[in-house]
Amino acid sequence: MSLFNDIEKVLITTDDLQARIAELGQEMNTVYSDDDLPLLVCILKGAYMFMADLTRHLTFRHEIDFMEISSYGKSTTSSGVVRILLDLETNIVGRNVIIVEDIVDSGTTLDYILRNFATRNPATVRVAALLSKPSRRRIDVPVDFVGFEIPDEFVMGYGMDYAEQYRNVPYIGVLKPEVYQRI
Ligand code: 5GP
Repeated sequence: MSLFNDIEKVLITTDDLQARIAELGQEMNTVYSDDDLPLLVCILKGAYMFMADLTRHLTFRHEIDFMEISSYGKSTTSSGVVRILLDLETNIVGRNVIIVEDIVDSGTTLDYILRNFATRNPATVRVAALLSKPSRRRIDVPVDFVGFEIPDEFVMGYGMDYAEQYRNVPYIGVLKPEVYQRI
């Protein structure tokens, strides 16, 4: 059976994703210039597709790096415990950093990353998040560039997983309830 049969509904279509990501890119092009030479930090694994599409719209010189933060595992809610699984290769002292996140939910992960980065003395730090679930926020975190605000539902696709699967789905969707019993 195809993995696409596990999807109950499409929340954001491929076309809507691409159109909004192009807009986010244009917005960022008005904020940054070559001289800023920002470092875009992709938070793995969920943000890899967003990062790849977003950077194709950027016209200013920039560099990229990756950081992996502990995920939910098989659960659909955060344990509240955040760990760095892969750290930056780049020294960010004096750099203009843009954190590229898939989704801000409770805010725990982003709050952790922001506080961690602050100790490394970057010049500026801004956040680009494809999705935000404002109703779930427990920590007030600043998000400078937001793609879409979504309701309190567990979503997957476009880089985001459930139990490490479904990242290849080219849109944002919600799984059928029975999938959570099966996988
Ligand atoms: P927070 O720490 O803000 O509660 O959660 C942030 C992280 O949890 C995101 O970077 C993402 O990896 C994961 N996450 C939060 N909500 C969802 C969701 O609806 N679907 C998926 N696949 N991951 C989520």
